[in-house]
Parts: sequence; structure tokens; C-alpha cells
Amino acid sequence: MAEDPKDWDVATKLIRGGIARSQFMETAEALYLTQGFTYDSAEGADRRFAGDEPGFVYSRFNNPTVKMFEDRLALLEGAEVCRAQATGMASVHAALIGLVKAGDHVVAGRALFGSCRWIVAELLPRFGVETTFVDATNLAEWEAAIRPNTKAVLIETPSNPVLEITDIAAVAEMAHAVGAKVVVDNVFATPIFQQPLKLGADVVVYSATKHIDGQGRVLGGAILTSEAINEEFYRDYVRHTGPALSPFNAWVLVKGLETLDLRVRRQNDTAAALADVIGEHKKVREVLYPFRKDHPGYEIAKKQMTGGGTVIAMDLGSREAAFKFLNALEIVDISNNLGDAKSMATHPPTTTHRSVPEEQRPSLGVTEGGVRLSVGLESVEDLKRDVIRALDQA
Ligand SMILES: *Cc1c(COP(=O)(O)O)cnc(C)c1O
Repeated sequence: MAEDPKDWDVATKLIRGGIARSQFMETAEALYLTQGFTYDSAEGADRRFAGDEPGFVYSRFNNPTVKMFEDRLALLEGAEVCRAQATGMASVHAALIGLVKAGDHVVAGRALFGSCRWIVAELLPRFGVETTFVDATNLAEWEAAIRPNTKAVLIETPSNPVLEITDIAAVAEMAHAVGAKVVVDNVFATPIFQQPLKLGADVVVYSATKHIDGQGRVLGGAILTSEAINEEFYRDYVRHTGPALSPFNAWVLVKGLETLDLRVRRQNDTAAALADVIGEHKKVREVLYPFRKDHPGYEIAKKQMTGGGTVIAMDLGSREAAFKFLNALEIVDISNNLGDAKSMATHPPTTTHRSVPEEQRPSLGVTEGGVRLSVGLESVEDLKRDVIRALDQA
């Protein structure tokens, strides 16, 4: 019986999914750094453009290396279609804009990655799309906000920076009751620990810049959905607006996928251990990690995720303490990225969440003493020592 890649375990999908070897039968995925493609004959070009014959026509539409990345990620996610994009933000932008027109309504959790918040708060309203923000942990607020002309809801869970948890299945049920599509930004959970499509989401978006590369090299993004939704809402939009992923970046990302499972499981284990060490330290007012019992979203996190993830949030009480902590770290870098092999810590109010007006910050959990720690692949013992020493000095 022939193997069906859909039946493979995650580890096998990540190594073997989507491979399309050239006539040279290379072992590693080939990098097709080309803008375009040629045809045997004018009739051949005619057939290719008509879609009567499979093949590529232009790298803004698709490219063999990009397709290997798309097919591998789609297999992992259990999605019919993956559309690779130049960045995570290109993905969030297309995923939302593709679903709406003037007069429609969008609901989103208020604690979002800064640029996602800008799209919902500033960009969509310019084109006549009404938007409502809710406390994404409160199902009654979702219920009250979703209305007959709601066409899309955007969920980020766990959210940035304080790892709020939203019940994806419950919100999907409310959204589907009015025919709205559910878009989940799954960056923090990664495809390894949360599968939103299985929980009722219609569209999943990634910044591949984060864990999928995981080694700080390239930007990338992806939209994953069904054939039907892609056909109706995204195919033409991304074809004609051009947020295409570079084949070079796709090649880096397809190789990144090979080690995704190994990397994020190790990062997850280290993060869980570090969260406990941080939680016990007397300088720490609060530690937030989805798989700790004291996290407000613990029950839902346990229901919909298989790991707490690679990011920890903590509150050290004041900006002064947070800065002292960051400056005392010797191994962990001060950097605003996340999901990287290198551990990184940042102070959200002065970096990633700077553009959020000060009076709105408390409702997003963005406090002056807040620090977000993205846990990498260094030894857990070295990281514990570094973090405890820095906390002692905070
Ligand atoms: C980083 C990030 C994005 C944006 O991704 P880019 O690749 O930087 O454009 C979107 N959503 C979340 C949750 C992110 O962490």
C-alpha cells in the first residue's frame, strides 16, 4: 500500500512533506531562484495560463521552492491550502482584508501584536470596515460584539505580550452562527502545540519569522485555509497585490521546518522549567506561563494546547527593576524578536508596544515592570543561572 503523507507523524511530515525533486534527484530541497518560467511552445504557454496544464508561470504567483514550503506547512497544519507570504504582517493583512468589504464588521481581541492591532484599529476603518475590540478572555464580550454583519474575527492565543488565552472553539461557534470567518494568529502556540483548524478556525496565520525559521535569518509568513476559502477570498487578492515570499527565504524556511518539532519541544521544556524558577523568586510580582496552574487561562490552555509554548511573561513591579534585570542578563540577549534559538528578553512598553497609547496599556497587560522572555535552545541550567542572577540584581 502506498504511503499517504497525511498519515505520517509530525516528525516525518516535517522532513519529507512537500519534497519535489528535480531531474537531478538532489537530496536537499532545491533553491529555484528564478522570477519566471519558459514554455515548450506558444500552445504550452496558453495551456499553462489557462490552468489546463500544471506548472509555474511567475514567481509572484508561485515558485517550486515556495511550493515545497507551502506543501510541507499545509501537511503539518492539516490544511488544504497554504499561501506563503513575505512576512507575518503580509499574512495577517491579506487574511483580514481578503474577507471584508466596506460596511462589514470585524471583531478582534484587544491584546494583539502591535501591527495587527494597527490593521484592525486604523487601517480597516479607513475603508469603511467597522471594528470592535474585546477582552479576548471574556466570552460574554465576544458574544455581545459579534453581530449579523460581522465577517471576520481575529484571535491571537496565547497573545502578545502577556499570553492571554482565548477559547478558540467557543468563539468559533459564536462567529459561525452569523457566518463570520475565524482567523487565528497561531505564532505563539506554534503548529506543534495548537491546531486551530481542528478547533473550528477557518484561517490560520503565521509569522514564519519566529519559530519556523527559529534561527534569526529571514522574514516570512503563511496563510492556511481550505480550498473553498482560498478560492473565494485569497487567491486573486494575493496574486494581484504581490506579498510573495522570496524563493531564497522559502528555502531557509523549508529547512527550518525540518527541525521545528525538535526545537520548539526543547524550548517549551526549558520555558516551563524557567517559569517555575522565575515564579519562586522574591523580586517577581507575577509570572505568566500558560501551563502554570496560576495562569488565568490555564484550563483553556490545557484543553486546546499540548504545550505551554516558548515565551514567559513576568512583572517586576517597576520600569527600573525591569531595566536592571535586562541589563544584568549575560547570556540572554535584549531583543524584541521571539521563537529564536537564542533566548531574548524585552520590555514591551518601550519596544514592541510603544505605539499603544499609555492609557490603553493596562488593559493589554502592558505594565511598566513587564518583561517578555523568549526561551531559546541554550542549556536550561545556564539559563536558570543567568535569569536568577539578573533577578537578584533587579
Ligand atoms: C511577529 C508577529 C507577527 C508579525 O510577523 P512579521 O514576520 O514580523 O511580519 C504577527 N503576529 C504575531 C503574534 C507575531 O509575534
